[in-house]
Amino acid sequence: MALDGKTAIVTGAASGIGYAIAERLLREGVRVVLADIDAEKGAQAVEDLEKLGEVRFVKTDVSKSLDVHNLVASTIDALGDIDILVNNAGIVHGADFLDLKEEDFDRVIGVNLKGAFLVGQAVARYMVEKVKTGGAAGSIINMSSVNAVFAIANQVPYSVSKGGMNQLTKVMSLSLAPYGIRVNAIGPGSIMTEMLASVNADPAAKKRILSRTPLGRIGEPKEIASIAAFLASDDASYVTGQTIYADGGRLPLNYTVD
Ligand code: NAD
Repeated sequence: MALDGKTAIVTGAASGIGYAIAERLLREGVRVVLADIDAEKGAQAVEDLEKLGEVRFVKTDVSKSLDVHNLVASTIDALGDIDILVNNAGIVHGADFLDLKEEDFDRVIGVNLKGAFLVGQAVARYMVEKVKTGGAAGSIINMSSVNAVFAIANQVPYSVSKGGMNQLTKVMSLSLAPYGIRVNAIGPGSIMTEMLASVNADPAAKKRILSRTPLGRIGEPKEIASIAAFLASDDASYVTGQTIYADGGRLPLNYTVD
């Protein structure tokens, strides 16, 4: 994939999809900074991944601009460059619309959407300067969801944040296209991570998910990681502004069985 020797930041990389993306990029020869709010899991992730290549952890709350500036500065210090950004950190909060608290709305939007804006802007500023001085253009990947399109009644800020993520992807890709910097999103369906653990443990909820998934199974984090590797690479050199859905056929086929 010609990713060998490139450098990347992956947010929310201490577990789940972010971890799988970091692992895949390391296997492709990318040097990776894992950014996550969970320092314990971050340290464990570095220990597990360092046999694959150069990997660092920077404790980061993506919703805090000071943390984000520290992340970008420490990545440049440690790796000397940033070619790839994966804005993957995300949280959920379940509550019906009428009961939803303002602080919970703000928290989810703050991490999922504002976080992607803050990290995206800070990294894009670096990437633009690099292009202006003759360097190679980078690739930015935002983690969206099928919930950018489907509404879930008790996932108000999550669905709003992911709808916003698709628009953020489009406006970023327009602003950065003149520099050759590509910005795309991935929209996973149901993927087996901690975020899905409670659903997976509930047989009725699992049956509901499978009933609307034509491929008839929950996806694996590595099936999202392979799309991130493609979008990060020159194989996707003419792809920008897109959201690629990986949802077992749910969105395009709009399928349900009892
Ligand atoms: P996960 O809970 O396993 O991982 C999320 C990671 O983000 C954790 O390591 C967590 O510590 C980190 N994080 C949380 N708040 C943070 C913050 N403020 N700053 C930095 N890091 C923070 O979840 P996952 O399933 O791997 O989700 C990853 C992304 O994929 C999310 O954006 C999620 O919305 C999206 N997604 C997941 C699914 C799914 O079914 N699992 C489906 C669609 C989209």
